[in-house]
Amino acid sequence: MNHQLDKDAAALQQLLDSVKEQGLDYLRTLDTRPTSTNARISEYQHLPHHGLGAEGALQAFNQRLEPLIVASSGPRYWGFVTGGTTPAAIAGDWLATLYDQNTQSVKGNGDNSAQIEMETMQLLLELFELPQNYLGGFVTGATMSNFTALAVARQWIGAQKGLDFAKDGVTTPIKVLTATPHSSALKSLALLGIGSSNIVKVNVAEGNREAIDLNDLNTQINLLQGEPFLLISSGGTVNTVDFDDFEAIAQLKAKHNFWWHIDAAFGGFAACSPTYKHLINGWDKADSITVDCHKWLNVPYESAVFLIQEKHRNLQVETFQNSNAPYLGDPLENFTYLNFLPENSRRLKALPAWFTLMAYGKEGYRDMVENNIRHAQQFGAFIKADDSFELLAPVRLNTVCFTLSGTEGQANVTAFLQAVNDTGQVFMTPTVYQGKKGIRAAFVNWRTTSKDIEMVTEIMKNIFLKIR
Ligand SMILES: *Cc1c(COP(=O)(O)O)cnc(C)c1O
Repeated sequence: MNHQLDKDAAALQQLLDSVKEQGLDYLRTLDTRPTSTNARISEYQHLPHHGLGAEGALQAFNQRLEPLIVASSGPRYWGFVTGGTTPAAIAGDWLATLYDQNTQSVKGNGDNSAQIEMETMQLLLELFELPQNYLGGFVTGATMSNFTALAVARQWIGAQKGLDFAKDGVTTPIKVLTATPHSSALKSLALLGIGSSNIVKVNVAEGNREAIDLNDLNTQINLLQGEPFLLISSGGTVNTVDFDDFEAIAQLKAKHNFWWHIDAAFGGFAACSPTYKHLINGWDKADSITVDCHKWLNVPYESAVFLIQEKHRNLQVETFQNSNAPYLGDPLENFTYLNFLPENSRRLKALPAWFTLMAYGKEGYRDMVENNIRHAQQFGAFIKADDSFELLAPVRLNTVCFTLSGTEGQANVTAFLQAVNDTGQVFMTPTVYQGKKGIRAAFVNWRTTSKDIEMVTEIMKNIFLKIR
């Protein structure tokens, strides 16, 4: 064997101990590590001929790269929708690496990791109080989850017209109705050959809303004159966390022939709170649902699930079947994930989710979700009370969308955000909402406390005085 590998194999305990210590050190100091940095890699390294060995690689990493790592898993990283990692999720993630299973079939692969994934899907359905008639699986993120669900939706449209798009390609235009789609839904439509410009934009409801306007939806549906279509619903928009009226849309399902997809990447976690779960009432009638796990479930990247009603199983297999390889067996008989989603070989992605769900249960996730909602309310109350700032939308769940007051504020918002982020104590991201430059703060990290909110509001007040 190669001598570096030999040496590493012999010193494995020491290596893993060092990594564990380093990881603990990172987590212990998350609070003080900067949330962003202007430092960059000055020059990329070349491949060594004689390897450095794992300890050598660790040293090289620590010298050049570790100092560039920011506290994006920490309590004051409020940019995008960035979750943290629970202790149990970290444990599950480490073990997924150590066991290194290739998660595919329930039988016939020689390993049982697909059943662990299926059990995890069942736990998630219970967390979301969804019926068990969804067939789901893990993909890398909500983008791929949207892609997976919309791929089956595409096949469904074909089937309505007696066509098989998976085999023959997309031979007719597909109409997609939506009001405030996430950018990743457009990307998915582009990838799927549906084309993002085939979207029919439905109006948003009146009164500073991003949810779909039901009257206009009805009008647009009638214009299609019975043609089957896709409806992409929002289960939490990124700017203002608005939700389409799922109960009303569920009723439309009885009258019209369409595939209903809900992107509930983070908003689906409203299901964890008795106070907020009314926001997603009726979502159990959707054909497919996207939920991210690396956001509010607080498991490490890359983790999300798709949920597709089991009755569409055949369409799902038509879309993703890989069984032109004879050794893989009949796709409907022997369940194997590679016939149900984009990837073939895949890691045991479900394990971090399994660990965190078992570790904290329904109550743990209710607490996490409700805490984050309280943080958003606390931060929103500060914005509302301080004349320098202005809320761009009410705080509906866990995100605050705000700006600096007045026309002068609009001119200063970019510089203000830059100065706030440059403190390294908090990170928020810019947005544009209803033509106004704004700032978003999203709360999805279990480590965040009300002290963090207080700290950031003080920073913001000081910076506002300086940049004015
Ligand atoms: C984050 C997000 C996505 C994309 O998710 P990734 O995990 O980054 O792929 C899609 N839809 C919504 C509503 C989101 O919030």
